[in-house]
Amino acid sequence: MRFSKEECLKFVQENDVRFIRLQFTDIFGRMKNIAITDNQLPQALEQGVMFDGSAVPGFAGVETSDMLLLPDPSTFALIPWRPQQGKVARIICDVKNHDGSQFAGDPRYILKRTLQKAQDKGYVFQVGPECEFFLFHTDDVGQPTTTTHDSAGYCDLAPIDQGENTRREICLVLEEMGFEIETSHHESAAGQHEIDFKYTDALTAADNIMTFKYVVKIIAQRNGLHATFMPKPLQGVNGSGMHINMSLAKEGVNIFNHPEAQGELSATAKQFIAGLLEHIKGITAIANPLVNSYKRLVAGYEAPVHIAWSPMNRSPLLRVPSPRGEGARLELRSPDPSCNPYLTLALLLEAGLEGLNRGLQVAEPVNINIYNLTSEEEKSLKLDRLPSNLLIALEEMKKDPLIHSTIGEHIFTKYITAKTQEWRDYDTTVHQWEIDNYLKIY
Ligand code: GLU
Ligand code: MG
Ligand code: MG
Repeated sequence: MRFSKEECLKFVQENDVRFIRLQFTDIFGRMKNIAITDNQLPQALEQGVMFDGSAVPGFAGVETSDMLLLPDPSTFALIPWRPQQGKVARIICDVKNHDGSQFAGDPRYILKRTLQKAQDKGYVFQVGPECEFFLFHTDDVGQPTTTTHDSAGYCDLAPIDQGENTRREICLVLEEMGFEIETSHHESAAGQHEIDFKYTDALTAADNIMTFKYVVKIIAQRNGLHATFMPKPLQGVNGSGMHINMSLAKEGVNIFNHPEAQGELSATAKQFIAGLLEHIKGITAIANPLVNSYKRLVAGYEAPVHIAWSPMNRSPLLRVPSPRGEGARLELRSPDPSCNPYLTLALLLEAGLEGLNRGLQVAEPVNINIYNLTSEEEKSLKLDRLPSNLLIALEEMKKDPLIHSTIGEHIFTKYITAKTQEWRDYDTTVHQWEIDNYLKIY
């Protein structure tokens, strides 16, 4: 159900909704919110609600701190776990400057702008994400630990899978909030889970990813657990990815599908793949934004390392899942769930469309398990690799003009500055590994 302004106001009045949380996402992918009471809603929908943009990292400077949240009524949803008397709802907002003009640092705007550009050429970008996460025990004072709450593996059942009740509750809450849940299962690592919801247009998908992470964390907490989307919380086992399934439609038809072509994949789909592969190095700092993201992108844990594609194999960066037909789609396997989904989806679409515009030729698919390649084989296949740490990824981002033109000067500069500092903090920290390996010997 997608509400108009009037429907929002009517629903709030008739259903005892007392608080509305105005949500938005900062450039680093963190959800923020301000609550208003129901009597403020009519004015909020018309004029927006003021907040201090200088207190949100990556937003405004102190000189221009007054900013506005303008609710998008179509995202209205009840928050099902809050009290049923004096209910609470949320609305996702666009971020504006104090004079009502568009704020260039709002990631949701960046995605909307990119989608509009594509729409002007008749393209609709459809996205289905697969979010993985871990559930950990909390300690005596409620702080998260890294002890997993079960020791199950891929698709295991209870009683080894201890997460089924939490997953069930997450699915039911998400359905109440308007999601169409497709599947949920225990993932490969102990304490690791995945819940998949149906593909939608890209803006809804990005909004949904943010809502998903919020719901998973809250419901885990209500079950005495800590949910994390940190990409690689445990060494030696799989990390958590957020595979992005993508298709492109024109006049209501999936243009990645071509039943007669080899592999049932259209020339358009192959050009889109070529665009993605050409720009993926520059996109990686956005799709894999943490120092920790790069500890997931190592061989042997179902996460990609090489820039390659395949119609079936799971070791490369990009896979074409079967069945094809009207459901033909591309699955990009590098993004992780700590990324800002608005910026990531905007970049993936721009990169793919550039492949179409320039009629790029895609490299031959790689149909062997890339993890097992020798360095000679890697050389003879001319396989390139994803950036191996955040600093290298930031250097790649700076080199790729498509990233700058898609996310704009404001986000580009603020992001590079903050992430370079994040890398420096990490790089100058003395880690436990160094103490364990050097302290006694040297
Ligand atoms: N957890 C793996 C990753 O880090 C993906 C496993 C899967 O194929 O679902 O990307
Ligand atoms: Mg998975
Ligand atoms: Mg997948």
